[in-house]
This record gives sequence, C-alpha cells and structure tokens, in this order.
Amino acid sequence: MTETAPPDRALSVLTIDLEALAANYALLAERSAPAACAAVVKADAYGLGLEPVARTLETAGCRCFFVATLSEGLTLRTITDCDIYVFAGVTAENLAAFAAHALRPVLNTLDQLRLWREGASGPAALHVDTGMNRLGLDATELEVLRQNPVLLDGVDICLVISHLACADDSAHEMNLEQLHRFREALGISPAIPASLSASSGIFLGADWHFDMVRPGYALYGGNPQPEEPNPMQPVVTLRARLLQCRSIAPGETVGYGGTYRAETPRRIATISTGYADGYLRALGNKATVYAGEMPAPLVGRVSMDLIGVDITGIDGVKAGDWVELLGPKHGVDALAREAGTIGYEILTSLGHRHGRIYVGADA
Ligand SMILES: *Cc1c(COP(=O)(O)O)cnc(C)c1O
Repeated sequence: MTETAPPDRALSVLTIDLEALAANYALLAERSAPAACAAVVKADAYGLGLEPVARTLETAGCRCFFVATLSEGLTLRTITDCDIYVFAGVTAENLAAFAAHALRPVLNTLDQLRLWREGASGPAALHVDTGMNRLGLDATELEVLRQNPVLLDGVDICLVISHLACADDSAHEMNLEQLHRFREALGISPAIPASLSASSGIFLGADWHFDMVRPGYALYGGNPQPEEPNPMQPVVTLRARLLQCRSIAPGETVGYGGTYRAETPRRIATISTGYADGYLRALGNKATVYAGEMPAPLVGRVSMDLIGVDITGIDGVKAGDWVELLGPKHGVDALAREAGTIGYEILTSLGHRHGRIYVGADA
C-alpha cells in the first residue's frame, strides 16, 4: 500500500474508491468487447497507488497491464502474475531484467527489435508510429521491416500497438488517418493481435478497438470525451481541513503578492493544502472548493501548504471543518479546467502528503 499520513490525523485526505474503479473497468470492458480490455497503470496508477489499483483491476477481470518504465514493471511484477508491457521498451543495459521478471517490452525501434531478438526470447509488443511522432517505428523503419521480414524471425511479437494523438476530439481528422495507417502497418504481420485505443479511442467506435484496448485515465474517473457528459464514476475525492477562519475588511488582501483584494467585508477560511500537495499553483484565484453543498471560491495565490477560500455567507463554517477540493461535486476535469491543464496532470500531481483511504471493492 502507498500509505502515508494516518488518515485520522491527517489534515487533508485523499479517498480512492476502488468500487468505482472496478465499475469503470467493467464499463470500458463492456464498451470494447469482444476486444480485451487491458489497463494502463503507469506513474503509480496515475497517482492513485499501484498496488490497490492493480489488485482491484485484476479482481475485476483485467489480465494485462501497461506501465511506462522498467522500474514500474518490476514493482508491478511483485503484485501480479498478469502480462505486463513496458512502453519505454528495452535497452542493452536492462534487457536481462526484462527477461528475468517476465516483463514484455514495447519495442519502439528496429534497434530495440534487434536487441530483443539477439538477447532475449520472451514475448514483446511492437509499436508502430501512425502520426503521434513520439515512440514507435517510423515510416522508414516500417518499410525496412516490410522488405526484410526475417527481422521478425525468432521474435515472439504478440501485440502490435500504436497510439492516437487526438482521440479526445472525436471529429478530429487525425483519428481516421491514424486508423488507416495502423491498418496498413498491420499488413506486415496480419496474424498478430493489435491495439490502438486508450481511454478516448474506445469511444470512437468499434473500428478503433482491434483486439485490445488500453485505457488509463477513464479508469480513474476522467472524462474520455471532454465534449460529452462523463460516463465514468468519480474515483478520487480530496478533502482538507479548515485551519482558521477570519474576517477581513474592504481593501485587505489575501496571500502572497496580495493578488486578491476584498471590496466588501469578507470571511476567509485558510485550508490545509497547497502546491506541495499537487494542488497546482495555477489554481490561484481560479478554483472552487465545496463547504458541504456550498461553493467557495479560492482567493489569492496557492501557497506551498495552504490556500484561502471565501466563505462569506456560508453559515456555520468553522475551524476543524472539512471541505471538498476534488470529488463528485467538482471532478478532476473541472479542477483541471480551472488550472488550465488536463485532469491527467491533476491526478499525477496529487503526491503523498495527503492521508489516503481506500474504500470499496478491495479495501
Ligand atoms: C498513457 C498511455 C495510454 C493510456 O492513455 P489514457 O488516455 O490515460 O487512457 C495508452 N497507450 C499509451 C501508449 C500511453 O502512453
């Protein structure tokens, strides 16, 4: 477990709902069937805690996981016997570790393919680039492979993958372009199972599903289609304690730099969370927190450990109360919008200073 401060003494608490996580897996698996539904658990399962997340997903039926790096793969190997793919691929230095722990590299270049063919023999995935221009064989390398099929001899490629650049915008022309390029690339070895879609791609339709989908973000409650209502259940709630309440007079300011100035008498609450907790500094003067059902706007800058919110007119709020910074009323996508970023960055920034509680299925 990724336990840090004991939740009963912590001044901010992250609650991770494993039942909602399992429900999200079930929804994505159903949407993608008959394709298999894998799970992307890189970056400590998007900040939510690799072990409880992976265990819950395995119980929910997931049999294949993707991580970013070898070290994430090694940690995950101590948790599950399922298939584990490592997006970063393999190097001469870490080849032996892959083989020793039955980890499957995603081979991104012909060099990596050669390394794996000559130095190891286990199953691996092959990544072909279809327009993202990040990882995967480029058009030239793909052509070399097409002309020299022997390069694949003796290598157990059990999955061919590519990654969509614009799947969160269903009308974007790149989706179809990448689909066509992927189909063309699969011509090199039509019998091998294929995987193109992450969270958003699943919602582009069955043409994008192939044999396996590999969602991350949507599992954790993020909206895979930002223009549509979110079909996923919220998984993360962040609550923090109110340390102090004060009244300020017109003309007074709140926080570093005095960037908020009261025009009328206001009541300000100081809350135990800051940018060192992943509550991004860009949220200064932008975010909303909830005291019960009541929205309270964040005023002034976000400090390292503290924020101020305007609770004027919200009855009964006092020091010691809990407010909700992230949760069903105000999800990762909403908070991300206020910070001018994406929910992925909100989740992966949450860090380990909050107390953590896992509730639901596997807790
Ligand atoms: C991170 C990642 C995913 C998962 O993407 P989500 O948008 O979080 O579903 C899938 N495939 C690759 C190659 C990735 O890097």
